[in-house]
Amino acid sequence: MTEKETTQVKMEDVQAKADEKKCPVQQSLVFVEEFLAGPMCGKCFPCSMGSYEARIRLKRVVDGNASDEDIDKVNAISSHMLVASMCKRGKDTAKYILEHIVSSDFRDHLTGLCAKNECLEHVKYIIIPEKCTMCGDCLDACKDNAILGERKKPYLSGYTPFEIVQKRCTKCGECMKVCKFDAVKLLSAREMAEKEPAGV
Ligand code: SF4
Ligand code: SF4
Ligand code: SF4
Repeated sequence: MTEKETTQVKMEDVQAKADEKKCPVQQSLVFVEEFLAGPMCGKCFPCSMGSYEARIRLKRVVDGNASDEDIDKVNAISSHMLVASMCKRGKDTAKYILEHIVSSDFRDHLTGLCAKNECLEHVKYIIIPEKCTMCGDCLDACKDNAILGERKKPYLSGYTPFEIVQKRCTKCGECMKVCKFDAVKLLSAREMAEKEPAGV
């Protein structure tokens, strides 16, 4: 690992960015990413290699591709970084991860649940037909053309019901914000599995 040029980013800025998130996995990942992009200088192996590997494994947790081993490894890497890093910056990074990895929310990601609904691979937006009044507000709000449906007109029958095309949905949440009828719901992966046991 060669030394890299560090930027003027301070560790306080790194933490402030990470603290903007609510999910402990996201917080840890953002912390490591900001640290790698800024204050991490590459002078010592435990911190530089540790941060790179922690980032890869944390990303797997966020993306829903992780196993128990990934979380155990992040724990081990961070513990090693805490002891062996040459300066406070590496130790503070390790400390931040270790403080967040103990949250039960962290390992819940392995079962498809992001309790804070921030890890997008673990959530899905759906429209509940019984609540949808076919007003069409979500249609206007969706910039990704991910919503199908036809505004209800009193003099017509046989409307196309509103639904979200999951392949197009970027999970921006705008439809949920504009719906006045509470008809857009955010489902966790666990709720999806319960609703759709066949994995639809
Ligand atoms: S612990 Fe400090 S010296 Fe070592 S790579 Fe990290 S920032 Fe550089
Ligand atoms: S905004 Fe809500 S009620 Fe209106 S069409 Fe969309 S989901 Fe249905
Ligand atoms: S979450 Fe965003 S992209 Fe997905 S359907 Fe709603 S508005 Fe469209």
